[in-house]
Amino acid sequence: MTDLASEPPDSPAASPGLTLVATPIGNLGDLSPRALAALRGADAVLCEDTRVTGALLARHGISATLLPLHEHNEDDQIPRVLERLRAGQRLALASDAGTPLVSDPGYRLVRAVIAAGLPLGAIPGPSAAVMALTLSGLPPHPFLFAGFLPARAGPRAAELARLRAAERAGLSATLVFYESPHRLGEALAAMAGALGGDRPAAVARELTKRFEEVRRASLAELAAHYAAAEARGEVVVVVGPAPEERTGEAELDRRLGEALAAGMSLRDAAAAVAAATGLPRRQVYARALEIGREPG
Ligand code: SAM
Repeated sequence: MTDLASEPPDSPAASPGLTLVATPIGNLGDLSPRALAALRGADAVLCEDTRVTGALLARHGISATLLPLHEHNEDDQIPRVLERLRAGQRLALASDAGTPLVSDPGYRLVRAVIAAGLPLGAIPGPSAAVMALTLSGLPPHPFLFAGFLPARAGPRAAELARLRAAERAGLSATLVFYESPHRLGEALAAMAGALGGDRPAAVARELTKRFEEVRRASLAELAAHYAAAEARGEVVVVVGPAPEERTGEAELDRRLGEALAAGMSLRDAAAAVAAATGLPRRQVYARALEIGREPG
């Protein structure tokens, strides 16, 4: 329940420091009153694209000093931003859409502000990842936000293989990806291949906008759908957790038994089986030791 008495005496709009301000992901009605107050009260607004944030502010009659902060200038901007904060300025950080830092610039700046012991706050608000997760009908936690997969097929396959290895080693989480609409079909096909075509999934498109849509099906079905019809607009892919791991105890023992029977040392057998199953090497070695001690 909201506890009005526990609100800080100074709203972020009035206090010096850096405030991370979430902005709408489509529907402009989602800009909260507190976000608006923080933007209005800021001495300067750091933003990815000054045209995008400038247009948002103009709609609300705000003419703020806009300072660009993007992937390519973040490191250069940090000393200047810290200088302003040390001088007691109120700065806001907004991205083009949604929550700053979430697949958007700002992480390095936030680290620098914390390291410098300067005030830092946030106005929470929309984020496509959380909205898609809640609409997907898939287990909401634990979830792993993976951001964008690499655009090229090779690095994307490697990234998916890393996720799959983590699942084999015990990770059981709903996975959330951002994806470009042009690559959606091939990305879903790659996910189906690496993670399993029968995994339940959802594609959430154009959230909070006029053509909002959530399509729920298996990864293989979604891959087939978007291979035939290219998606339009902005997209989040949500994939349900991996099913119960196949490398159960019996399977582990069988693999270790085979490796040991082939004359491998305990250490080599454990290393080989850990690599093949994705299970942690320490766990496999501990089991290999037990098997070694058991009377044959
Ligand atoms: N910071 C943003 C957030 O908190 O959601 C994300 C920024 S990221 C650069 C942009 C990606 O977020 C898009 O490519 C898409 O995957 C996702 N996204 C943003 N808005 C969306 C929307 N309205 N519907 C679906 N996905 C969206």
